[in-house]
Amino acid sequence: MENFINGMWTKPRSEQYADVFNPCTGEVIETFACSNIKDVNEALHVANLAFKNWKKTPVAQRAVLQHKAATLMRQNAERLANSLASELGRPLAGCFTEISRSADLLDFYAEEGLRMKGEIPLHNLEGEKALIVREAIGVVVAITPFNYPITLLVMKLGAALMAGCTVVAKPSEDTPISTLILAEIFMEAGYPPGVFNVLTGWGYEIGNALIEHPITAKIAFTGGTSTGKRIGATAAMHNKRITLELGGQSPAIVCEDADITTAVTAIVRHAFANSGQFCYRVNRVYVHKTKYQAFLAQAVALAQKLKLGNPHSNADMGPIVNQKIYQNSEAQVLDALEKGATVLTGGQRLRGEEYDKGWYFPPTIISDTNHSMKIMTEETFGPVVGIMPFETNEEAIALANDSEYGLAAYVFSEQVGTGLRIAESLEAGSVWINNISRSYHDVPFGGVKQSGIGREKGHYGIEAYTELKTIYLNY
Ligand code: NAD
Repeated sequence: MENFINGMWTKPRSEQYADVFNPCTGEVIETFACSNIKDVNEALHVANLAFKNWKKTPVAQRAVLQHKAATLMRQNAERLANSLASELGRPLAGCFTEISRSADLLDFYAEEGLRMKGEIPLHNLEGEKALIVREAIGVVVAITPFNYPITLLVMKLGAALMAGCTVVAKPSEDTPISTLILAEIFMEAGYPPGVFNVLTGWGYEIGNALIEHPITAKIAFTGGTSTGKRIGATAAMHNKRITLELGGQSPAIVCEDADITTAVTAIVRHAFANSGQFCYRVNRVYVHKTKYQAFLAQAVALAQKLKLGNPHSNADMGPIVNQKIYQNSEAQVLDALEKGATVLTGGQRLRGEEYDKGWYFPPTIISDTNHSMKIMTEETFGPVVGIMPFETNEEAIALANDSEYGLAAYVFSEQVGTGLRIAESLEAGSVWINNISRSYHDVPFGGVKQSGIGREKGHYGIEAYTELKTIYLNY
């Protein structure tokens, strides 16, 4: 597929394309354009030209277009979900959910954008006023990872467009197809050319050009912590605004008074969703010693019910997207075993006719872990979870916070007060008590520590694409 720039399919200047693979079969399913600096320049220039009019477009008109785009996404759900399933390997039902949730997020941002407000302080000075207004910051570069290509883009795109910014999106090399289809859908919705552009290519080749370019006003990035820190450093050199949604190593604490079935159900579902390729998945679990054995038995039984297979079967989990991501899971299992942990279920790549061509890794539960092991300290981004017992809530909190990451955390306790006190002590952008849902659209999402800078979603998400301006008025 070609780039989508200024409302048109556009060949890359390099005339080179790279392959997109189906992670289940290893077959080439598409190609993406290998853009270079000239393509970056062109995309940013058209986005900048489009910005001149888009920032003046009435917010209500932007909202109408955004609702239209959401409706078209739903009408094109089958096409989008199939493209996601093919490039990502996730079972189709989960791909449909991603499309519908993303369409809902567009609708939410459209309405929330209508509620953006300025301020007038009541100085009570005759003939003088100060007006505090918000202005769109300009052209936004949105760089996204492979694991939820549509949701993670829409978290940026829907907010930026409502704020009056224009966007150049750079999807992952593994999953660019769904994003390119989305650009076509937005064009069909009636967006002016240049408002939403998609440029594909290798991050390390065009990343700096996208970040450093004088036209780029903000970089909205979701991806790995090391990539994000590199982007943050370059952005700082050029005084660009950033939002960074980075890696995670999220802990769950299961207290002595927790309902074990509730905890196991939520944790197993969340740890293995999208084959563990999920930024705020449960990566490690601390279970009170009195509930430890019961928790392990129930968790193993539930994990063993999960079926692996291709996205078009009735599978619960697909393969891992590529070898690089897969290797992490395998390495963390071996590291834990070497250091004395026990693999209770899973632990080895699945083999056999159905599995040989994909990187299928089964749901894996490791017990008797400690913090010398990578499974308890490093991001896995695969279907492996480490579990260890604790004696006091203070010890559990210290273990949970013993991490460079701070994206999400989870607490299970039948006492709301205990759950809340622990939640308040946890170093994380979001904490769930007694269940784990997907993040809501109207509340902020983001990390602390090495998990990121800034927030997406809610009105905070839209405000992140505006800058305050103060107008001193004498009359
Ligand atoms: P990645 O960091 O390898 O790539 C993400 C994007 O950055 C891709 O589009 C890639 O092409 C681009 N990129 C790579 N090098 C670049 C450079 N030098 N300059 C500019 N862009 C560059 O991440 P991934 O493997 O695709 O995704 C997995 C990671 O994403 C995990 O660490 C996960 O935790 C994180 N993630 C975080 C969140 C969140 O909300 N915090 C959500 C999903 C995923």
